[in-house]
Amino acid sequence: MKHAAARFFFCLLIPVAGIFNTTHAQTPFPYDTRSDSISIVHYNIHLDLQDFSTFVLKGHTQVIFKPKVNNITEITLDLMGPTVDSVHDANGNLLSFTPAPLGFKVSLGGTFNTGDSTSVEIFYHGTTVQDPTFGGFYFNSAYAFNVGVSLDDIPHNYGKTWFPCFDNFITRSAYDLFVTTLPTHDAACGGVFQGTVMNPDLSETHHWKVFQPIPSYLISVAVSNYVFVNSSFTDYQNNPVPVKLAAHASDTTPMKNSFVNLENAFDIFESRFGPYRWDRVGYVLVPMTAGAMEHAMNIAYPEIIADGSLTYQSIMAHELSHHWWGDLVTCRTAEDMWINEGSAAYCEYVFKEGLSGRAAYESQVRNEHKELLRTCHMDDGGYWPLSGVPQAHTYGNTTYLKGADMIHTLRGYLGDSLFFNGLKTLLEQNQFSDMDAIEYRDDLSAITGFNLTNFFADWIFQGGWPHVSIDSLTIVQNGVQHDVTVHLKQKLVGRTNYSNQIPLTLTLRDDNWNTYETTIHSSGMNNSVTVSVPFIPTFGYLNRDELISHAVTATYTTVTTTGTKNLSHSNMLLQVQNVSDSVFVLVEHNWAAPDPVIDWESGKLISPQRYWRIDGIWNSGFNANATFRYSGQISGGNAFLDHLLITGTEDSLILLYRPDRSVDWVEFPTYTKNFGNVTDKTGTLNAINVQKGEYAIALKGWHLGLNEWNEESNATLYPNPANGFVSVESNVTADRIVISDAMGRLVEQRLNPGAKADFVTASWKKGTYWVTGYSRDKSVFRKLLVVQ
Ligand SMILES: [Zn+2]
Repeated sequence: MKHAAARFFFCLLIPVAGIFNTTHAQTPFPYDTRSDSISIVHYNIHLDLQDFSTFVLKGHTQVIFKPKVNNITEITLDLMGPTVDSVHDANGNLLSFTPAPLGFKVSLGGTFNTGDSTSVEIFYHGTTVQDPTFGGFYFNSAYAFNVGVSLDDIPHNYGKTWFPCFDNFITRSAYDLFVTTLPTHDAACGGVFQGTVMNPDLSETHHWKVFQPIPSYLISVAVSNYVFVNSSFTDYQNNPVPVKLAAHASDTTPMKNSFVNLENAFDIFESRFGPYRWDRVGYVLVPMTAGAMEHAMNIAYPEIIADGSLTYQSIMAHELSHHWWGDLVTCRTAEDMWINEGSAAYCEYVFKEGLSGRAAYESQVRNEHKELLRTCHMDDGGYWPLSGVPQAHTYGNTTYLKGADMIHTLRGYLGDSLFFNGLKTLLEQNQFSDMDAIEYRDDLSAITGFNLTNFFADWIFQGGWPHVSIDSLTIVQNGVQHDVTVHLKQKLVGRTNYSNQIPLTLTLRDDNWNTYETTIHSSGMNNSVTVSVPFIPTFGYLNRDELISHAVTATYTTVTTTGTKNLSHSNMLLQVQNVSDSVFVLVEHNWAAPDPVIDWESGKLISPQRYWRIDGIWNSGFNANATFRYSGQISGGNAFLDHLLITGTEDSLILLYRPDRSVDWVEFPTYTKNFGNVTDKTGTLNAINVQKGEYAIALKGWHLGLNEWNEESNATLYPNPANGFVSVESNVTADRIVISDAMGRLVEQRLNPGAKADFVTASWKKGTYWVTGYSRDKSVFRKLLVVQ
């Protein structure tokens, strides 16, 4: 499913910093256990969709099933909207039924065991239901059609809005659909068209058949005065694959024009992910506006975006790609929806790469990654693990865009050949079945021979992001070479566990433009790697190729002219005043807390959210200014950059600087402030004659003194020492409570904590911590011992 405006739609604003939704126990999520005892092998769905005036659906569905265990005496089926009129057994005898939470329970009138096959037939009619945003069975004066998942309702499966079924991601069945329409209408359904029968009353019954087993949310029907545009593609084995596009006659030409790259998408996905395993390719235009839906072989596609342009072709490709990701291999539960939707969102990048090349792919990955670092946790109400997004946020940016970003990172771990060949085999081995993240990990590890335990622990089972930086370089001459020890440092963004064995491209350079590149690995909070380099590097940087989506976005640029350079990935403007020869400028925007101010009592509250690092190959003829935009706003294009730092007016903002990490932060000596309106929380700080080093935004004068809390308030921590948790209580109303470790590193913070705030310390290391309360006028802090 592709929601047309996912980024803008899910703006549930929960301004809390420390929502660390961390590692889940890697146990399977609860699933619908009906599928353990009964296998529904086939549905015969008969619908009467002639009445477009009262919007009533009439139908009867035969459910053919086989017990997987002995002593089956009843079956519970889901149905939402229409009312059940009667239920019959395989011989036509009436069966009794009672209401169940999502449908009804049928007494089978006998006992059935493994090896048996039987059926029930349900007659039903009534008005249908629709999700407020997306999903359900829709009628209007010109169309009747279903959309198989609900955006808002939980569970999301919406096969039950038009036929009785096990409405889950697990049970897979074959289908026959018999849809009776007015003679002026036609029915476009999933599967292969079998024929039309004229009825004595002049109505027509259209028969479609789905041979491949699919879950209930993927079967489909759409009725209108459709015409079909038939063609065929050639698959990778040179066999024809029928293509059927259904639309109103007046829409067929714009639809074909919008779909000129459909065959390219088909070829791109077959070459990357293996054969197309379905009987045809199909799309049907429907009057939806909220998005498209990947019904197998009969994708429901919004009429308004088949407009003759190529503007929305990524949605066309997204839905087709579900025939590899989602339809062929399906998430077992909604908590692993990233397997369907993260993969399909990633396929949009693959489509772009196939059409326009690697640079276009990289550009899209880079743009989305930056947006995710800024907004994903705010849009989705927390830093959710990709595997384990709560169902209220199933169809949010975490599942789709962070899912795609993580699959890009998986590609970085494996390399292109292992990645694509591995996924091809993963799909082949698991075709027409469901999967969870654990199975994905274990299968792909076995297929590739690459142990993905670390990857899944660090990127799939843990929310938030790792952040890796070079803390320093140590250089020792060794013959004609130089042993360069790279000291790496990891920080945590929205998570509590450090990562292991993150592969990162290391680039080392000197002022003569010598360049050395290799892959190194970051493990834990600190580790060091020594490499042998044929020159003395003056600086280094990580992840130039952006194969790994950690919490840094950067610009690497060669500057040869004066003027303003918008380094948008670095959230900075570079105003080049003089340049006499080419210079190389590196600007990293680090989406992680900078190292703390060592002079703790100097009254500087440094940003808990981000800092910059500027470096490069410069010469004496180079002079530039740097404009750093800040924004404490919580809406708009710069929202959430500094909302944890800038909660009041801007007049105490300062620009901090240090040339390297061996020295403390000081205020940058030459800069101007452009606050504009001091209460709108946005403006710029402009460094004149910018220097190499780290930059951060801070507040000045907020931190008043060591003993204040003790003297002026009744702030208490209890129990102290803490063992598992600590409560912070104070008669000073704090805007925030910040907890840092003995080295001043941020551990956790909370906005608007109220008079009493509880913190879980169970995952913290034993030792000393500082608990600081900040208010508009003062800050107070106390020492906390954690003993667990
Ligand atoms: Zn999708």
